[in-house]
Amino acid sequence: TKIIETHEISKVYRMGNQTVEALKSISIEINKGEYVAFMGPSGSGKSTLMNIIGCLDTPTSGSYILNNNNVSDLTENELAEIRNKEIGFVFQTFNLLPRASSLENVALPLVYAGYNRYDREEMALEALNNVGLADRADHKPNELSGGQRQRVAIARALVNSPSIILADEPTGNLDSKTSYDIMDLFQQLHDRGNTIIMVTHEDDIAHYAHRIIRLRDGLVETDEINQNVVRQE
Ligand code: ADP
Ligand code: ADP
Repeated sequence: TKIIETHEISKVYRMGNQTVEALKSISIEINKGEYVAFMGPSGSGKSTLMNIIGCLDTPTSGSYILNNNNVSDLTENELAEIRNKEIGFVFQTFNLLPRASSLENVALPLVYAGYNRYDREEMALEALNNVGLADRADHKPNELSGGQRQRVAIARALVNSPSIILADEPTGNLDSKTSYDIMDLFQQLHDRGNTIIMVTHEDDIAHYAHRIIRLRDGLVETDEINQNVVRQE
């Protein structure tokens, strides 16, 4: 079943009397459970597309259907609501609260979603367990390694059971050994049925995904099944 459908979406940025067409009529379909990597040179439109897919921004024209919701022309508030429900974000810089424990960081999206303290702790612990970090629940970010911090961020992205995990250069701040560990974790999440979309400029990272979409100048240049998926034992 389709979880993402973009129909000829374009995005035009206006700055004074200049305009930039960051996306030019992009049509993409992504099914539930797919693992997709977006690649492409700097300025090709990856962030713009991820922002639209993540409901952080809307297209200038065209339509975007996320999990059967037409989100192309929602208000800011409606967009925020659907974003909190449907999307788990993972960032290159982890974006954790420095003074909060792993458990508190992971539980944060549940505060906004209105869960009580008991449920929040239980769900956050389960999410930490899913990334192999249940024994670091009380640690603060500066007491964790880079890879562990990214695991906490991934647990936070998962805690709401979102439809899609969106990861923007998730290994950008990690050494290669740690990067491959994080890709192992993504592979496990994919095996469990999660839908994952990541942006990366690294070929060896992209090759963990099952489909690689390359953008160039705001257009889809190639959209291919990855015949050589990297898998670890
Ligand atoms: P990528 O993520 O592939 O580097 P972007 O989506 O960030 O590409 O940018 C695509 C194009 O849109 C670039 O030409 C960029 O300069 C332009 N752009 C991106 N964001 C803005 C913005 N907020 N205002 C004006 N131009 C922008
Ligand atoms: P083939 O020779 O059959 O094309 P490749 O190993 O070149 O096999 O490509 C396998 C997958 O990796 C394809 O989906 C392709 O889109 C992608 N791919 C190919 N070349 C590159 C590259 N330079 N960077 C990132 N991905 C690539």
